[in-house]
Amino acid sequence: MSGGAVLEGVVMQVVPQKERDLIAKLLLRDGTAAGVYVYGGMGGGTQNKPRVFEPGNMMRVQIRPSRAGVGGDLAVAAENLLLWRSAQIRHDARAFALLCLYLEMSLKTAVTHHPGGNATEHAGHFGVVSNALFHLDQALAEKSFAWSTHLTLFLTKFLHHLGILPDEASCVFCGEALGEDPSTPLVADQGGFACAACAAAASLPASLRPVRPFLAQAVRTRFQDWRAMPEVPPEVNVQLMQFWGHHLNVRLPDLASYRLLF
Ligand SMILES: [Zn+2]
Repeated sequence: MSGGAVLEGVVMQVVPQKERDLIAKLLLRDGTAAGVYVYGGMGGGTQNKPRVFEPGNMMRVQIRPSRAGVGGDLAVAAENLLLWRSAQIRHDARAFALLCLYLEMSLKTAVTHHPGGNATEHAGHFGVVSNALFHLDQALAEKSFAWSTHLTLFLTKFLHHLGILPDEASCVFCGEALGEDPSTPLVADQGGFACAACAAAASLPASLRPVRPFLAQAVRTRFQDWRAMPEVPPEVNVQLMQFWGHHLNVRLPDLASYRLLF
């Protein structure tokens, strides 16, 4: 590849166009989202080209220099190169649903790329998604994939990147240390956990499935150390997902991949 702008990122979404074209929405390395039009991207044709624009694939795309007044805002791919694809995820229904969930959540979250801009404040978003997919693939290859545990790691890192990770150490109401009590409820509209006294004062029910011990462990566990995480009950992720949905204004049943998992 030579000359012209280059976009590099994870394919979040593929929308077929005409007979064999597509528009791919990429999560770029800087954490922003960019659409690119790919002629013949669906593959096939007389040369029976393989389709490389699949959700979750890491692509490098060289952009055609735009002719003045032609083509509107959408970048058009001149050449593309597949940098990484999971060998495993497509063969496991739960893993594939997780991949779709990560990408769907990314689509709801990522801000639009502006050519020439060099913002770095969203770069963590790309790191979270690419790490999550890489280690998901690795766990499947090792045949030790626990979907709920991987989701907890992803959600913890994702909430941290968004700046809304609940503080697992102190009460969101009074600031007191939460100690060892695992039943402290996660209060989405307050953005944190409530101690027993504040939970009682606000008539909050104690958490049936303790979220905090799993969250605390996930905060201290790097993606590459996923083997050190305990098995996480799926209800923990439901509460973390509800927390994310509350803060991002997303109704969870609107996410197709959420309905596949829960
Ligand atoms: Zn309190």
